[in-house]
Amino acid sequence: MQIHVTQSSLPPFEEYIDEIRSIWGTKWLTNMGEKHFQLEQELEAYLEVPFISLFTNGHLALETAIEALELTGEVITTPFTFASTTHAITRNGLTPVFCDIRPDDYTLDVDKIESLITEKTSAIIAVHVYGNVCNIQEINRIANKHNLKVIYDAAHAFGVTVNGQGIGNFGDISMFSFHATKVFNSIEGGALTFSDEAYKNKFYQIKNFGIVSPEAVVYAGGNGKMNEFSAAMGICNIRYIDQNIKSRKAVVERYKERLQGVKGLRLLQEQDGVSSNYAYFPVIFDENILKRTRDEVSMALAQQNIMARKYFYPLTNDYECYSGRFDSNTTPVARYIAERVLTLPLYAELAPQDIDRICDIVLGQ
Ligand SMILES: *Cc1c(COP(=O)(O)O)cnc(C)c1O
Repeated sequence: MQIHVTQSSLPPFEEYIDEIRSIWGTKWLTNMGEKHFQLEQELEAYLEVPFISLFTNGHLALETAIEALELTGEVITTPFTFASTTHAITRNGLTPVFCDIRPDDYTLDVDKIESLITEKTSAIIAVHVYGNVCNIQEINRIANKHNLKVIYDAAHAFGVTVNGQGIGNFGDISMFSFHATKVFNSIEGGALTFSDEAYKNKFYQIKNFGIVSPEAVVYAGGNGKMNEFSAAMGICNIRYIDQNIKSRKAVVERYKERLQGVKGLRLLQEQDGVSSNYAYFPVIFDENILKRTRDEVSMALAQQNIMARKYFYPLTNDYECYSGRFDSNTTPVARYIAERVLTLPLYAELAPQDIDRICDIVLGQ
């Protein structure tokens, strides 16, 4: 049997059926129905955020955040992320300006942000990579000083807290993804969290064609609404989220027992005051010490039907679709990491003997 890098969390089948039964009564399948509002409330409570707005997926949520903030010109961001972050910027007609990352937690290197700011810069879009928290305080200080907006791509950081505060409370807006492969899923889905209530209306207009009443269309919005079946899946999955994160933690601990301290392997370090969601298990392979490259390890795993993934490789500033526009030589740390990182399989039900088998291959045993 193949082992993938992740496996979607599903509630017990009967529980989902029970949850969607009422939809056959109301015949209300989408457009801000009962399930949608219930999930909104439950997520507001779970994430401990003042406001939340649900979307079809995380990417549309991020595009919406950028549109709502009316950003212009240049946006400082990271190339060490999923395609979505960079595409959301370019698809809004903005220019991403790539800032290098830190070698320890792979988030934006805040010491390199200010030298990239020009009179065209309107925002910083930072990513809490693998659930690692960005240097929020420093990003906040720089943004205030230069009058920039801040959006956090928190797609990896569902349920993470910093000194007891929910991760969705920082910057102007944070985006979460509830895609099937994420720690918490609603099949497809996403959300924006924010503390300025005024955004709520704006987001609503952007995700619902700008329709505010049957005869009033006030904005040229698109369609980003979450449907009731997705919301129902979210309602079921949120009941199991703590248990799920606990099981993931046990997987991570078993990996660490075998891989921690091995020369040539660098594991994710815990951050002070941060409670992790154990979303990913990236390993950096130093070929000079190991005498094996990341790609060789990846192939050895694939031969045993174990599909680890090179998250994130290539860097977004190396994508074919941006060829000639950006240069990954300007982000050498990100490049070093991207060429050596392999994200090992991690999900709640990953069996201990499978973890051991993966470690044996990684260690060349
Ligand atoms: C998953 C992900 C997204 C996009 O979310 P979707 O819900 O799949 O649209 C954006 N950014 C990052 C870093 C992600 O991992």
